Amino acid sequence: MLEAKHISKTFGDRQVLVDVNLQVKQGDVVVILGPSGSGKTTFLRCLNHLEKADGGQLTISGKDYSLDKLSKKDILDIRKKTAFVFQHYNLFANKTAIENILEGLVIARKVPKSEAQQIAEEALKKVGLLDFKDYYPSQLSGGQQQRIGLARAIAVKPEVILLDEPTSALDPELVGDVLDVMKQLANEGTTMVVVTHEMGFARDVANHVVFMDGGHVIEEGSPKDIFYRPKEKRTQQFLARILSDASYDLEYMI
Ligand code: ADP
Ligand code: MG
Repeated sequence: MLEAKHISKTFGDRQVLVDVNLQVKQGDVVVILGPSGSGKTTFLRCLNHLEKADGGQLTISGKDYSLDKLSKKDILDIRKKTAFVFQHYNLFANKTAIENILEGLVIARKVPKSEAQQIAEEALKKVGLLDFKDYYPSQLSGGQQQRIGLARAIAVKPEVILLDEPTSALDPELVGDVLDVMKQLANEGTTMVVVTHEMGFARDVANHVVFMDGGHVIEEGSPKDIFYRPKEKRTQQFLARILSDASYDLEYMI
C-alpha cells in the first residue's frame, strides 16, 4: 500500500537520510524509533512532501512517484493519500475545532460544505470531542488539541496517517487519551506510521517496528523481535537506555 525506496535527503552538507526503505501494508501500524536527530521526522515529512527528498521512490496504492521529480499534480496526489499529525498539533489558532477540520475538506479537497460538516462532526465524535466543536484551540487542553489533530487527519480519509511524536508535547496525564484514540483507529484498520517513544503503544499496537539511527534504518521487525531480540548493538543500546528510563519490564514482552 505504501512503499518508500532509497529515500535520501541532505541539509547543506549533512546527509540526514541515507537510502531509507519502508514497506507498509494496508492496516499496518508501523512504529519508528530512534534517538533524537536520527532523521525520523525528516523521513516522515518526505513521505508527505512537507520536505522534498533529494531522491527515492514512493509507491502509494499502486501509483509510483519519483520524489526528485514530482509534478504539482503528483504532490497534490501524495498529500491527498497521506495525512500528517504533528507533535505540536499545528491547528489554526483563529479557527474553532470544527473549522480546523473543515479547512482540509472544503478548501483542499473541495468537498461540498454540508457534506464536509457531516464528515467533520463524525470525526469529532470518533475522538470524543463533538461537544467541543466550537471551541478554539486555546480553550482546549493539549490532549484535546491533539485529538482534533487526529480528527483532522481521519476526516480526509487518507490511505495512511503519518504521526510525528503525537504525544511527546503533552503533559503525562493527557497522553493516555490520545493513545486511546490511536489504538481505536488501529483496531478499525487505519494504516499508520508513527514516530513515538511510547514503548507500550509500540509493543501492544504496532505490528512492525523500525529502528533508525544516523539517517539509516538499522533494524526492523515485529515488536517482539525488536524489543526482546534486537540484533544490532545500536538498537540494544537505544532500547536499554529508553526502557530503563521508563522502567519497562522486558519480561512482559515474552
Ligand atoms: P529526529 O526526528 O529523528 O529527531 P530530524 O529528522 O528532525 O530527526 O533531524 C535529522 C537531522 O536533520 C538533525 O541533525 C537535524 O538537525 C537536521 N535537520 C532537520 N531539519 C532540518 C532543516 N530544516 N535544516 C537543516 N537541518 C535540519
Ligand atoms: Mg523528530
